[in-house]
Amino acid sequence: MNTSTLDIKITKTSQSRINELEQDNIFFGKKYGDHMLVVNYENGAWQQVEIKPYQNFSFSPATTFIHYGQAIFEGIKAYTDKDGNPGVFRPHDNWKRFNKSAHRMDMPDVPEEIFMEGLRQLLDIDRAWVPNRENASLYIRPFMMATEEFIGVRPSEKYMFAIITSPAGPYYSKPMSIYIQDTYVRAFKGGTGNIKAAGNYGMSMYPTHQAKNKGFNEILWTDGIEHKYVQEIGTMNVFFKIGDTVITPDIEHDTILAGISRDSVITLLREKGIKVEERQISIDEIEAAYRAGELKEAFGTGTAASITMIERLVFKDFEMTLSDPEKWEMVGWLKKELADIRHCRIEDRHHWIFKI
Ligand SMILES: *Cc1c(COP(=O)(O)O)cnc(C)c1O
Repeated sequence: MNTSTLDIKITKTSQSRINELEQDNIFFGKKYGDHMLVVNYENGAWQQVEIKPYQNFSFSPATTFIHYGQAIFEGIKAYTDKDGNPGVFRPHDNWKRFNKSAHRMDMPDVPEEIFMEGLRQLLDIDRAWVPNRENASLYIRPFMMATEEFIGVRPSEKYMFAIITSPAGPYYSKPMSIYIQDTYVRAFKGGTGNIKAAGNYGMSMYPTHQAKNKGFNEILWTDGIEHKYVQEIGTMNVFFKIGDTVITPDIEHDTILAGISRDSVITLLREKGIKVEERQISIDEIEAAYRAGELKEAFGTGTAASITMIERLVFKDFEMTLSDPEKWEMVGWLKKELADIRHCRIEDRHHWIFKI
């Protein structure tokens, strides 16, 4: 039963594109669900929420977000259970983080009801778009941008919040080769590194491209003052298992995105009795552990790629190579545990699944 009082204007497509989706051959980010959710903010209030066929937006060339980057987003995934019913992984946490991003970018909060009930109804209509395959998912992209037509620099008076979806195939992520950044900076104290602001990604393209040209998959960013402490990788938080302890950079310095996958991994590891430390970790400490043979496992976590092992780390001319990532016990267990929770094969003991 739907107990929500949120009034959504629903216009369904007359021509579903679901037949274009080849369940066994999904190329991520290129196909979009039949419908999208859209709501505008004007005169200090959110207007009529709409679910309508996926379609282009139309904007004035003077729309502020295009020029000044007042734009934020989220990334969420929905998975099917054994009966093919969709469940969304921790969307309420994404809603909270979305409003944290909105606050920092001087944008209006999106009410819980619009985000959560809007998401529920959108996925209910487009449930056929959640791939019914192990480790496949429907990627959900909520976003908001400043939509006022005005060339001056000041916070906009108009915003748009929208949600689109895109099917993602079974994810196999090859172990990564990582370049530890010693020149460019992603985030610094007081900046926007801890929120999902569009501009954080625009400015990371060039340094990442440079690293890719040298054969690396991604960059591990370091602090902006000394390039001494590690922060995170592209769109992933980073973990190191040194001896029997797992260490991940803490989120106290406004420079690291508080990943929901990160939090899930920390929760599962601690529950299993593994010691997890959230603190600053320097490249020197990682190098020393490597030389002593104590660097056992290293991996990144994020919604897009779930858990991805790191097999090679390079800082300046020092190279660290970790052997046999496919055999790492802890990461192997984590991947399976997370997949079992997401596909509802084991008890949802942390109430992470939002059923549609
Ligand atoms: C989204 C993101 C992550 C991962 O967050 P999840 O909630 O786990 O998806 C990590 N780092 C950055 C910079 C991100 O944008």
